[in-house]
Amino acid sequence: MNSTAGAPRGVIPAHLLKGQKALVTGANSGIGKATAIGLGRAGADVVVNYVAGQEAAEKVVEEITSYGVRAAAYEADVSREDQVAAMTERMVEEFGTIDILVANAGLQRDAGVTEMTLAQWQKVLDVNLTGQFLCAREATKEFLRRGVVPEVSRSAGKIICMSSVHQLIPWSGHVNYASSKGGVQMMMETLAQELAPQRIRVNAIAPGAIRTPINRTAWETPEAERDLLRLIPYDRVGEPEDIAYAVVGLASDLMDYVVGTTLYVDGGMTLFPGFATGG
Ligand code: NAP
Repeated sequence: MNSTAGAPRGVIPAHLLKGQKALVTGANSGIGKATAIGLGRAGADVVVNYVAGQEAAEKVVEEITSYGVRAAAYEADVSREDQVAAMTERMVEEFGTIDILVANAGLQRDAGVTEMTLAQWQKVLDVNLTGQFLCAREATKEFLRRGVVPEVSRSAGKIICMSSVHQLIPWSGHVNYASSKGGVQMMMETLAQELAPQRIRVNAIAPGAIRTPINRTAWETPEAERDLLRLIPYDRVGEPEDIAYAVVGLASDLMDYVVGTTLYVDGGMTLFPGFATGG
């Protein structure tokens, strides 16, 4: 690890999202976990969604409640329409409403194109793209039902889609994943356009290389990390908190005028570092 490594330091103002109810999908691991905790530290009550890892989800709930807010773990497969509907209905019943959706759940099933099975293609599209659509649709129904509550937030709801630098950078050997994130970008922008008049803010975050289980092989040995750093002008691998802090800011009224934007949180990975010395 180099001298610039490590999570960003900072104090999240505990009142920033006070009284807001946040749903974070895929929140028992990596980016979703740090995000759920960050939202809790900012004063939001948080639903921690997971599909398989219940124990890990309960630990995240425990940590969030230690900040004096409410939290609960809900199991749901985001690619299943019935399960997403049941999850959002339960949240409205138990928490009263939804103010913030972080559509974060995602996975990879990597293979070169000739080896990639239809099942691998379909699974990634189902979870990474259809899953975000289903969650966004159900959250939007609740935002529209409730409308703006000025004491809580200037908008009727916030949707933050977890995209990737691979909505922009093609990624050989990962055609399913890159296609899903390209789809997330256009889904996000279209929803942002459609829903802005209802004062619903839809945006995305595009992480670069973040140290989580999804990409362990890219950073777990010093050699792998060295290779990875060649792609990152800022010269450190990202930490889940880098993304969590961006989500907290984007979800808050401090960024009320940010609509339909992708915020790249990538240490400059999308700056074509290969051209830094003249190409
Ligand atoms: P991770 O640690 O592997 O976490 C993935 C999460 O998604 C887990 O909580 C998992 O839950 C959940 N999940 C998977 N399938 C699901 C389903 N069908 N329904 C509900 N939840 C499901 O990976 P991560 O790095 O934090 O990734 C989070 C998001 O960031 C993904 O959308 C990913 O594409 C994006 N991203 C990550 C990076 C990076 O460098 N790490 C870069 C760009 C974008 P279970 O544990 O219960 O299965």
